[in-house]
Amino acid sequence: MRATKLIINDKNLKNNITAIKSLLKPGVKICTPVKANAYGHGAIHIAKKALEYGVDMVSVAAVSEGKELRENGITCTILLFSLPLPEECKEIVKLNLTPFIFDPEIIDILDLESEKAHTITNIFLAIDTGMGRIGCTPEKAAEIAQYIEKKKNIKLSGCSTHCAVSDSLKDDDISYTRDQFKKFEFAIAEIKKAGINPGICTAASTGSTLQYPEAQFDMVRPGLIVYGYFPDDEFANYMNKKHPDFKLTPIMSLVTQITSIKTVSKGTSISYGCTWHSDKETKIATLPIGYADGLVRKLSPGLKVQINGKYFPIVGRICMDQCMVDISSDNDIKRFDKVVIFSSNGQTLQTLADKLGTITYELMCGIAPRVPRIYTAD
Ligand SMILES: *Cc1c(COP(=O)(O)O)cnc(C)c1O
Repeated sequence: MRATKLIINDKNLKNNITAIKSLLKPGVKICTPVKANAYGHGAIHIAKKALEYGVDMVSVAAVSEGKELRENGITCTILLFSLPLPEECKEIVKLNLTPFIFDPEIIDILDLESEKAHTITNIFLAIDTGMGRIGCTPEKAAEIAQYIEKKKNIKLSGCSTHCAVSDSLKDDDISYTRDQFKKFEFAIAEIKKAGINPGICTAASTGSTLQYPEAQFDMVRPGLIVYGYFPDDEFANYMNKKHPDFKLTPIMSLVTQITSIKTVSKGTSISYGCTWHSDKETKIATLPIGYADGLVRKLSPGLKVQINGKYFPIVGRICMDQCMVDISSDNDIKRFDKVVIFSSNGQTLQTLADKLGTITYELMCGIAPRVPRIYTAD
């Protein structure tokens, strides 16, 4: 097998889910998002394990992702977060996915396709309370619910909204988020007033699950914390004070091995563009990992990688499939030694995200399919 591997730790996944459960009121369900290949961790494996560890359902963003799960024996409710195209509705019905929808055009098509297939398709009504992405306005929710209610082959099984700044600790953002919950509550009350059961009401992703107990409603759907990361370091510190016992552990570690070691003389340039030159005799290790694996090119200069417990800088540009490291400061490193790019202890993905000015989400999703996922129990 290739030296470059993504190691996924099931025990950490289990502990993260247990920690999340400890924050929930009795009876509140959990949906685990496994969209984007479970944030890069492997959708089939994570879905199976998360269900085994007690979550109630999973969710995806593309119909193809739902298909992959169904074809691999996942029988639970699968929510579809992104809006489908009309031509995808037939497949949604066939796969028994539960899409987030809100407009009459898609409602009509789903109802028709369900009728043709002699089945009833469950749907969630998406209500836009301030994210500005998908959903009807809170004022329109009851009307759309009535429209759905008249259809024979679709069933309103839940209502959902999504928060824009629930992972922020700023006062303005906290009041914006509380306002979103109020609008959601208003919409649900209107639906009930119209004599319609709104089904499972859900508003909380990671930020709200951690910060707002009142946002739990009937179900939470956090992704990031299942995978072991807080939204950022500031949030991690806040949680540490508020719930000292609440611990998350990242699930994924990206590792590789040294494929060659050489000593170069002073003034040797390394990698594309000749942007780095040795200022003395230097020992260089080559690693078989590059930006096509998800090791973002902009991480050099700056990123260090861990070899035998010590950190060494990447020098020169990161190539598509390889990169080079200055290991001069250590005499014991050997060819084929293990290299840790990030893991659950020591340097985490948060360090890389901070260097790049991005979020851990983006880097997790960016670990390429060609990197084998290796699942371990400890
Ligand atoms: C991705 C997503 C989530 C999970 O978000 P996290 O920030 O990872 O917790 C929840 N709900 C919807 C609608 C999403 O698209």
